[in-house]
Amino acid sequence: MTKDSHLSSKDVLESSLLHRSLTAAPAIVTKTSGPYLYLSNGEKILDGCGGAAVISVGHSNPEVVKAVSDQLSQVSYIHTSDYTTSVSEKLANKLLEKYQDKLSKVYFVNSGSEANEAAVKLATQYFFEQGKTSKSHFISRNQSYHGNCLAGLSLSGFPARRVPYEQIISDIFHKVDPAYEYRYKHKAETTEEYVKRLADQLEQEILQIGPENVAGFFAETVVGATTGCVTAPKGYFKAIQKVCQKYDVLLILDEIMCGSGRTGTFFAWEQEGIVPDITTAGKALGSGYSPLAAVFITPKIIDVLKKGSSAFVNGHTYQCFSLSSAAGLAVQTIIERDGLLTNVLEMGTYLEIKLKEKLSQFDIVGDIRGRGLFWGVEFVKDKRTLEPLDPSLKSGPKIQSLILKRGVAVYPGFGTKDGYSGDHILIAPSFDVTKDQIDIIVDTIAQGITDYIDI
Ligand SMILES: *Cc1c(COP(=O)(O)O)cnc(C)c1O
Repeated sequence: MTKDSHLSSKDVLESSLLHRSLTAAPAIVTKTSGPYLYLSNGEKILDGCGGAAVISVGHSNPEVVKAVSDQLSQVSYIHTSDYTTSVSEKLANKLLEKYQDKLSKVYFVNSGSEANEAAVKLATQYFFEQGKTSKSHFISRNQSYHGNCLAGLSLSGFPARRVPYEQIISDIFHKVDPAYEYRYKHKAETTEEYVKRLADQLEQEILQIGPENVAGFFAETVVGATTGCVTAPKGYFKAIQKVCQKYDVLLILDEIMCGSGRTGTFFAWEQEGIVPDITTAGKALGSGYSPLAAVFITPKIIDVLKKGSSAFVNGHTYQCFSLSSAAGLAVQTIIERDGLLTNVLEMGTYLEIKLKEKLSQFDIVGDIRGRGLFWGVEFVKDKRTLEPLDPSLKSGPKIQSLILKRGVAVYPGFGTKDGYSGDHILIAPSFDVTKDQIDIIVDTIAQGITDYIDI
């Protein structure tokens, strides 16, 4: 094969690499820098979504690159059964520093899927250590995404990713309705009544399975890819936590996409007035420089482990990988030093205003929702009835590709309404995004939607 820049789509499709699709070739990226991706065909893309909301300090940030490369020369790999590194210790201490009264430990892995897998096991072991061995069932929500390994996939209410594997998904994983006000709050219902209905449904589900059998309830604090930045109705998580506590069920919040500062506070749950028993994080935590995800654990759980076996029975070759810790530490240091969470809040407000100003006029834009630098635009056929566009049109991905053709990357979604119909796009720029960049992102989205309507 020749140099990057000479690779054609045909070369890519015929290469030995199994891509996401066997028939559609992904574009070749030859360089990344700040908010931009440069493609081998000469195009320059303004990144409005950081892939799947991954990027928090821009692409190829020289400070992070240096930290990662220095780490490789310092300590490249160690096995965690015998060794640790100062960089991993520092990252853990830094992340928990402000939450000393709430959190006890953090556990580092390489992907969100691994983090949720670990959370399922940690919850199970928590009850096992107390002799409550029947507590092994989990409840999560429809239209949720919790990862692609078996535990995460089993928790996910995302038919498109589950269908081929239904036969290997255990029936200890149960589902309740999502907290999705725009579509599922009845017109005659107040938000309070809607929240009560959802909390009652969770309680009924726990009672049906038997509280002695339920270990945990999983939810995304702000729902990510599946429904597109859906925030919970006011009071939802407080009500849900009450139900969980009543039945000794652990509340586990998946903040892999919405956490690590994406919504303006390090944990999205800080804005809900609760502390979950376990939190998982990933994506923006390491900004894509090296695979990094984390499980944040409260004293309640660590204390039970301490009194019991004193060890979490779960290990990976690359857990707490020093290279990823170095990346995470550099990323978190930049976010703190440069006050980027303030920028997330300020630019988030600006993004909201711009999106509403430029997109509300379109008949197919049904809802614009989100928090911080995490915004979803849901498309509909009819704004009044909320009827989705015909699913066979694949409008979400189509609109995304039209926006991409004009040089801006956003993240597409489909199955928004019920896992099968509904379309949205997700906007999640880097935490250091500027007003000018937001203007370009939003104007280009408006042009892409116009292109779609004109087709
Ligand atoms: C991305 C994501 C995951 C899975 O993380 P991976 O790193 O892709 O394994 C889990 N939960 C949520 C909410 C996510 O957005």
